[in-house]
Amino acid sequence: MSVALLDLKRQFARVENDVRLQIERVLREQSFILGPVVQEFEAAVAAHAGVEHAIGVASGTDALLLALRALDLQPGDEVVTTPFTFFATAGTIHNAGGRAVFVDIDPVTFNLDPARLEAAITPRTRAIVPVHLFGLMSGMERVLEIARRRGVFVLEDSAQSIGAREKVGGEWKNSGQLGDATAFSFFPSKNLGAFGDGGMVVTPDAAFADRIRRLRTHGGVKMYHHDEVGLNSRLDALQAAVLLAKLPHLDGWSAARREHAAWYHARFEALEAAGHLVRPRVPETSESVYNQYTLRVNGRDRLRQALHDQGIGCAVYYPKPLHLQPCFHYLGYGEGDFPRAERASAQVLSIPVYPELEADERERVARAVERFYGGAA
Ligand SMILES: *Cc1c(COP(=O)(O)O)cnc(C)c1O
Repeated sequence: MSVALLDLKRQFARVENDVRLQIERVLREQSFILGPVVQEFEAAVAAHAGVEHAIGVASGTDALLLALRALDLQPGDEVVTTPFTFFATAGTIHNAGGRAVFVDIDPVTFNLDPARLEAAITPRTRAIVPVHLFGLMSGMERVLEIARRRGVFVLEDSAQSIGAREKVGGEWKNSGQLGDATAFSFFPSKNLGAFGDGGMVVTPDAAFADRIRRLRTHGGVKMYHHDEVGLNSRLDALQAAVLLAKLPHLDGWSAARREHAAWYHARFEALEAAGHLVRPRVPETSESVYNQYTLRVNGRDRLRQALHDQGIGCAVYYPKPLHLQPCFHYLGYGEGDFPRAERASAQVLSIPVYPELEADERERVARAVERFYGGAA
């Protein structure tokens, strides 16, 4: 019996009725572009995150792109981010006309290291894009302190972290409440997944929200009047219907992911003590939503193969840091520039942590890892 890294069929079985009801509503209304369901879902996400404005767009990538487009980057303008992330983070910086500047990661959290952030800021820096990787936020207290002092915009890449929280100034804040703007993704494998692509920008700033709304409809809110050239990037009403049905389950799903993570953490203590692997750590000031449960392991590629051979789903996020991608050769980075990100790329392995994972499946995953290292169990 195999164990999938993610099994969306199980989730669908639990939400099917609610999803069908919302989809039928769209079919009855025949309102497919920015209709009432999209507005309702935008309001629901804004309320869930505790932020004023939410703008539904076609994907998480477009959420990043539109937010960056709204900054009117000029040639040579710099945007600071992490090299250890999904491609879209830096791809959108490029496509918005900016120059990506990378900062190495904190080896414990896998996120951009705030201690290295300030040194990367220059007079050309327009924005910082902290990526809350695997469901864990980026140490926003320090990121915000530096950004405010240096007058730089903060765009949270929260594609993997909707519902995550972090303490700032002693108070719990949700992802989306801290940045000048935040991008969410509803790609099917994200914690709140659509039946296709979808994304959202949230922001506390009314003027910024208006600008994003304009940019998502060809640069004009009034039909056939274009103040600027924008994109066609709207959250599809059918996707909004699916997401509206799923959103009430999100907090429960996040709690289930945390429960699996806590179980793995206890189970893998001995393997870590023996030096075979390092478990993911969550600072006390943070609450992860575990889009991935990602270990650092010895013999990563052999372990991955061993798990695959036993039908156990696992994956490497991400095998090549962005500063080494051929398309970013022009940025002038090379091997050795961000050693922590490079080491992470060589060592990480994500194992199943999705909410509907069964206890006996978790057990099989753990046993397979233990067997690989010579039977710690
Ligand atoms: C998924 C993801 C994106 C892009 O979202 P899409 O909806 O797939 O376009 C951006 N950044 C990160 C960190 C992601 O994981």
